[in-house]
Amino acid sequence: MSFRTIDCHTHTTFSPDGKSTPEQMCDRAAELNLSAYAITDHCECSTWFEEEYYDKLGVRKSQDPFVVYDYKSRFYNAVDTIEKLKEQYQGRLNLICGIELGQPTQGWEGAEEVAKSDKLDYIIGSIHQIKGHDDFAFLEYLNFTEVEIKSLLEAYYSEMFEMVKWGKFDILGHLTYPLRYIQGEQGVKVDNHAFDDIIREIFKTLAQNGKGIEINTSGLRQKYGRTFPELDYVKMFKDVGGEILSIGSDAHRTNDLASGVQKGSEIALRAGFKHLSYFKNRKPEFVDIEG
Ligand SMILES: [Zn+2]
Ligand SMILES: [Zn+2]
Repeated sequence: MSFRTIDCHTHTTFSPDGKSTPEQMCDRAAELNLSAYAITDHCECSTWFEEEYYDKLGVRKSQDPFVVYDYKSRFYNAVDTIEKLKEQYQGRLNLICGIELGQPTQGWEGAEEVAKSDKLDYIIGSIHQIKGHDDFAFLEYLNFTEVEIKSLLEAYYSEMFEMVKWGKFDILGHLTYPLRYIQGEQGVKVDNHAFDDIIREIFKTLAQNGKGIEINTSGLRQKYGRTFPELDYVKMFKDVGGEILSIGSDAHRTNDLASGVQKGSEIALRAGFKHLSYFKNRKPEFVDIEG
């Protein structure tokens, strides 16, 4: 059985970890007959300015040698390019100009500037690292005690709640992102249900403000083997009144584009959603999953 679906979370070479150009991604997306396709390159608010800016302030520098600065110029280059691609692919591809805004909580200046952009259709709000730490991808969880991991996750969800209360984005990115690394890559078991109270509050705030969540299918092709989040949380979002649900492969190369999105639509249906949402000009549009 195949369902109508979308891929509204993907990266191109405008992201430091992207492997395919925007044109390559668009060509592939056009072949796949998606109802909507969004390019959402990284824009990490924590390193919005050039490196010298943080040097002058004397603020903590990342231990991660691959950390990238000056997302500001990356952001403007990306949206200008996608704007041109929208014309180029008109009639062939429902292309959405999006961005994945990382840690607005760690760089409000960049976050506010991005949120005001009139070129953007769509903003995913994500937390990839909590204050005072590197990206969850770079932490060594075997060196942490169970209590320390729990407090990392508490800090993660509370920073997420802070971002959600700010609210100038459309879809909350990969709710359970740290599990990709803690449980998936490094095999350390986590009881995420310990955080259900704050997650329910996050969901209620999103639902009340007409914002949504995504089913991020990248975990299906990674060691974690499941979506971010799984069915139980998609149901919880529905139960508290959530109506806006997106799906994204989080592909960083053409081969992964739309990977798992059929499964994402199936999970959406099982959670009681009849339609998916994508954004144009920061307003939701709906796609019936069956029909
Ligand atoms: Zn992300
Ligand atoms: Zn992403």
